[in-house]
Amino acid sequence: MNKPENKTDRICAVAKKCSGCQLSNMSYEQQLKWKQNTVYRLLRPFGTVKKIVGMSEPYHYRNKQQFVFKKAKNGRIVCGLYQSKTSGVVECFDCLVNNKRACEIAKTVTELLQNSGIKIYSLKNGSGNLKHMLIKTGRTGGEILLCLVCAKRTFKAEDKFIKRLTEKCPDIKTITEIVNTAPQGVFLDGQESVIIGKGYITDSLCGMKFKISAKSFYQINPIQTEKLYTCAIEKAQLKPGERVLDAYSGVGTIGIIAAAQTGAEVLSVELNRDAYLNALENARLNGVDNISFVNDDAQRYIEMLAKRGERLDCVIADPPRAGCSRGFLQSLIRIKPKRVVYVSCNPETLKRDLYFLTKNGYKAEFIRPFDMFPFTNHTECVVVLERQMDARR
Ligand code: SAH
Repeated sequence: MNKPENKTDRICAVAKKCSGCQLSNMSYEQQLKWKQNTVYRLLRPFGTVKKIVGMSEPYHYRNKQQFVFKKAKNGRIVCGLYQSKTSGVVECFDCLVNNKRACEIAKTVTELLQNSGIKIYSLKNGSGNLKHMLIKTGRTGGEILLCLVCAKRTFKAEDKFIKRLTEKCPDIKTITEIVNTAPQGVFLDGQESVIIGKGYITDSLCGMKFKISAKSFYQINPIQTEKLYTCAIEKAQLKPGERVLDAYSGVGTIGIIAAAQTGAEVLSVELNRDAYLNALENARLNGVDNISFVNDDAQRYIEMLAKRGERLDCVIADPPRAGCSRGFLQSLIRIKPKRVVYVSCNPETLKRDLYFLTKNGYKAEFIRPFDMFPFTNHTECVVVLERQMDARR
């Protein structure tokens, strides 16, 4: 494993100020052990916890970076990461986990902004325009999406700043602008418009193409995502004609790959409208038609399936950190799929949900942690549960 280039005693010079990487004071081997132990401690009662799948190169894996702008007292424009605890900005263009090209682009953007006349938004008095910037990178084609978040409409394709930026960085395939009027609040809230390009970039995972837009959810570590998805889909053991629910489906990635690889009929449900619209396009882009998409709350949708007495052979659930809602799980056990593949980004809520499922007819047959976010304290898991009480159907 190569050592990171910015050697200090904590390997990252701004680790303390930024605190995005909670485990930056540990070696990667120690981090993997720590994560393995966390999952073991929580999930041991449900079965054997297999060895965590880590990365051979755990650096610069992130395909999505958020930067914030601030005007320093001397008038210089500063770009960096939000400082934890204060609303300060940590300048950092050599982050351990961020994509290197995205950091170079952030630096170029910052250089071009100096003396450009573009005003940086001030949290103190609400003056100025430009607040933040989001950069997403496609691993396979190297395409870059840049999204500028402003307090009011600021950018046009013919602006000198935009022209110079795309000349210097031809890999920026699209630039969008979000008008975010709230003084503080959610980073990407607001109306988005396309400044240049198509408003999205394309990446591929497990041999399928996916569109990535500023607001849609897309897995952050593509190298580990392929390992995670391959495991989840293999463990689902889907056969042609079987019916599987892909719940919390994001831009449709797991469902589309599963549909293409197995010939099963996939139903996908996702709450976020942008992600749902991307999922429809992604299926079309890949010519996959044994999949359908619903833009709804996963609980409401599975309740409806249960009420109608619909059959499901398998449920793949990949919920956010809060885990599956109780109502979702209650309807799931009414439908009685023979297999549940639970992809979790939070072992605490996973434990709660496994407790419920194992009390209601399921047994955990496979538990494996995946390290999707090296240097942070997050751990992902794939758990496969099999229905035990089929005789009582
Ligand atoms: N399976 C996808 C996304 C997982 S992230 C992937 O691998 O990329 C979790 C997703 O759940 C997000 O896209 C989020 O928008 C969605 N979500 C959150 N709450 C939801 C709910 N109540 N019903 C349906 N989807 C929900």
